[in-house]
Amino acid sequence: MTKDARSNGSPIPQSSMRPVSPDIVAATSFHTHPDLIGFSANDLRQDAPHFYTRWSNPTVAALEERVAELEGGEAGLCFASGMAAISALFLTQLRSGDHLILSDVCYAGVAELAYDILPKFGIAVSAVDSADPDSVAEAVRPETRLIHVETPANPNLKLTDIAAIALVARGCGAKLSVDSTIATPIATRPLALGADFVVHSLSKYLCGHGDAIGGAIVGDRASIATLRKEALIHHGGCLSPFAAWLILRGIETLEARMIVHERNAGIVARFLESHPKVEKTYWPGLASHPQHELAVRQMANFSGMVTFSVGDGMELARRMAETVKTFSYAVSLGKTKSLIFYIPSDDIIGSSYRLNHDAAARYRDWMGDGAFRVSVGLEDPDRLVDELGAILAKA
Ligand code: PLP
Repeated sequence: MTKDARSNGSPIPQSSMRPVSPDIVAATSFHTHPDLIGFSANDLRQDAPHFYTRWSNPTVAALEERVAELEGGEAGLCFASGMAAISALFLTQLRSGDHLILSDVCYAGVAELAYDILPKFGIAVSAVDSADPDSVAEAVRPETRLIHVETPANPNLKLTDIAAIALVARGCGAKLSVDSTIATPIATRPLALGADFVVHSLSKYLCGHGDAIGGAIVGDRASIATLRKEALIHHGGCLSPFAAWLILRGIETLEARMIVHERNAGIVARFLESHPKVEKTYWPGLASHPQHELAVRQMANFSGMVTFSVGDGMELARRMAETVKTFSYAVSLGKTKSLIFYIPSDDIIGSSYRLNHDAAARYRDWMGDGAFRVSVGLEDPDRLVDELGAILAKA
């Protein structure tokens, strides 16, 4: 028992002195006992105590539980980055001779992982327009083990009907993983729509402040246990407790931030859509988005990403990089501050997506010669519109 001045000297139990924010447990290893845990990951039991931080850690475990809870899943597992999470998933779900079906437009790093690295392990990959469930069904082979989609996709904000693709996956005995980084669990719960796994780059909206890199997978308890053993412990891409703590801090405001991201993105998207120099504007909340009906059905929040194209985008991008103040000309997304970045279509089609003739034509039809990816932040929206207006006036 201790005395607390604020309680008029009445004794209060030590156990009630609990901090209101999570602790960072930075230790790399924990006192243990020979009867509690073995030295090999192969002996890891579900109820094993924390032992070594690459295996598990209390701060990271708190984040895993939080992300699983947000997604309505049995268990979660965190990694050092979104890419570490996705490569862990691919390399545990797929083996030599297997086949992966992938959204033909997705985060460029995932496309490059699939086309450059997976074939070295004897894994075949088919890229399809996952916005069209028939194309996904046509791509199925007897060896298809995993279908991976991203909705909304980065950078074109095209949507995939998760429930429709889950039916295709179930029909062929493959698993479905959904990268829900842009949607966030505030908008969409892929597991409830039939997905087997949800993956996140925690570096984006879940962290929300652009100051920590992390990734997560949520799924059933048995699969997550396998992922922990085969991928986390052996590939080694574990999340640092400090990054986990920053991301836990970010998640506390996730819902409130998403409401403002959505409101501001709507204001910016409507401004761009009505601007005479803007050729195309995409935001799932716009009635003009080609899949707006699916967005309304699948997204409880339209998120904060807007994509638009103008005539000479590269010239405008140069001017932006030199002059913007409210926006930052920078990659990434989901931060409190607005970010804008130009993606030339030929670059991403050739170096990342390797699209065939028809798929490249589809991409250019949607995005033009290039598009600005805007992550609309939490600033006063008038300042965002004023800055874009001033730059576009000189386009
Ligand atoms: N998934 C999406 C949709 C992304 O936008 C990104 C990164 O931009 C990733 C995955 C990879 O995440 P990370 O940068 O945390 O490795």
